[in-house]
Amino acid sequence: MTPLDDLKPRYDAVVIGAGLGGMTAANNLAKLGWKVLLCEHHYQLGGLATYFKRKGGHTFDISLHGFPHGMIKSTRRYWTKEISDRIHQLKDVRFLNPDFQVHTTFDRADFTRILVEQFKVPAQVVEDFFAHLRAMNYYDNDPRTTRELFEQFFPGRPDVQRLLLEPIAYANGSTLDDPAITFGIVFSNFMSKGVFIFQGGTDTLINLMTAEMKANGVDIRRNVLVEKVVTERDASGRRRVTGVRLRDTRFGGEAEVACAVVLSNANVKDTALKAVGEEHLDPAFVAAAKAVRLNSSSCQVYLGVREGESIPHIGDLVFTSEAKPFSSSELTDFHTTSRTYSVYYPDTRPHTKVPRNAIVTSINQLWDPWAALSDADYAKHKARVAEESLAGLEKYIPDIRSKVDHVEVATPRTVNRYVRHSRGTSFGTKFEGLKVSMELPNQVAGLYHAGSVGIIMSGWLGTINYGVIVSAKADSYLRDPDAAPLGEAAASAGV
Ligand SMILES: Cc1cc2nc3c(=O)[nH]c(=O)nc-3n(C[C@H](O)[C@H](O)[C@H](O)COP(=O)(O)OP(=O)(O)OC[C@H]3O[C@@H](n4cnc5c(N)ncnc54)[C@H](O)[C@@H]3O)c2cc1C
Repeated sequence: MTPLDDLKPRYDAVVIGAGLGGMTAANNLAKLGWKVLLCEHHYQLGGLATYFKRKGGHTFDISLHGFPHGMIKSTRRYWTKEISDRIHQLKDVRFLNPDFQVHTTFDRADFTRILVEQFKVPAQVVEDFFAHLRAMNYYDNDPRTTRELFEQFFPGRPDVQRLLLEPIAYANGSTLDDPAITFGIVFSNFMSKGVFIFQGGTDTLINLMTAEMKANGVDIRRNVLVEKVVTERDASGRRRVTGVRLRDTRFGGEAEVACAVVLSNANVKDTALKAVGEEHLDPAFVAAAKAVRLNSSSCQVYLGVREGESIPHIGDLVFTSEAKPFSSSELTDFHTTSRTYSVYYPDTRPHTKVPRNAIVTSINQLWDPWAALSDADYAKHKARVAEESLAGLEKYIPDIRSKVDHVEVATPRTVNRYVRHSRGTSFGTKFEGLKVSMELPNQVAGLYHAGSVGIIMSGWLGTINYGVIVSAKADSYLRDPDAAPLGEAAASAGV
């Protein structure tokens, strides 16, 4: 059997990529009655929201560090109650740096208390700040940067600004110089009720999502790369999707299938400029797509605690840094001292027979310094990052080295290799990417994009919600009697 065996000659929709955005969109379209093909170039589904296993009984989560409370509602509405019921709060978030030591549940009530009692900010200012953030909308034409927003409410308070921005820089890669909205919306989302994760681990989540997609009839193909979105002009001169060209990444086979809709979960720039091709798009749109800046990337250090060993409780999510003063550029510096430890105690996977502990260090990084390294220097710097991570952790768990029996480092190059994101971007694009993503169907009828974009539509919650929004648009297109080719597509959904 190869991954291309038994493909139908035609689907209503082909989804490129099985990240959270792609899987949500594929599942939604299948539930609406459409014939959906989901192609993932990797052997594993989930995209960045995935996991890997290593000798010694270790399972590591790539991006299960924390998301807002909104995931409970989104997964219940668009996935299943079983998935939604497993989402639970992380109650112990810590910030340990030269400016302050804060222990918090990371919700509005607790942050208000900390800002007022520990940082001595007048209660009214804190109240006004939260009210101001709650009123922000992503479609507002607000030219302010996050730096300007902070100066408006907390002038001359770099410590307060650090407390507010550092966690969000980890959650969406935003900096002081990004639009204020990219901080405001994501921070407000977390402040509503705190930070949540999925109990059972990403492996359980992806298994549940896969079962649900199969039950709804999604044709899932792993190890299948979508090389090209095939388009042509219709009788009225409008360019539209007609199919995709596929390649089996294991055995090298090729196939072409017809479809009315392509919904891409791949990076938006790659979707437009490579999969469709510049020659098929308006020059002004091509220029806008090329101008979109990619977001930052990351390194991670995966530390597996030996079976039978326990570790003390040091917090669930521990933001550490030795930098003083805080700056957005220090946060992504090649030699940054800023590291966040996600600690996975046995209750992360309560179903496992043997209780396990793991710690994942996250470090924000940029692509260029890592891309430029020779093989020897690459190995050297991976070892350095692992060593710095262990040395940092020794402050909180002095005997950690004797408890860990697996250490592995991922870099921006790893992200690029496994999910194909240009420059190993962790959170898609900067803000301007959202406009390009939403404009795609106007360039090519039947072409949609759902995936980390614009800082806001990123992270687990952002991409799931974006997948829902975009699949609803694709559904409308498939049902529109003026949107050819509708013959078989409409028939299969009973339109
Ligand atoms: C280290 C790290 C930690 C993170 N931590 C968190 C966190 O704690 N909380 C949070 O909310 N978010 C976190 N994020 C961000 C979050 O994981 C992502 O925003 C989200 O998972 C991205 O989902 P997506 O739908 O954009 O798809 P992606 O996960 O980017 O997946 C895209 C998929 O498309 C596939 N693909 C690409 N091109 C093709 C092609 N041509 N053919 C076939 N398949 C293709 C890729 O292989 C991939 O599976 C983190 C990200 C990183 C990197």
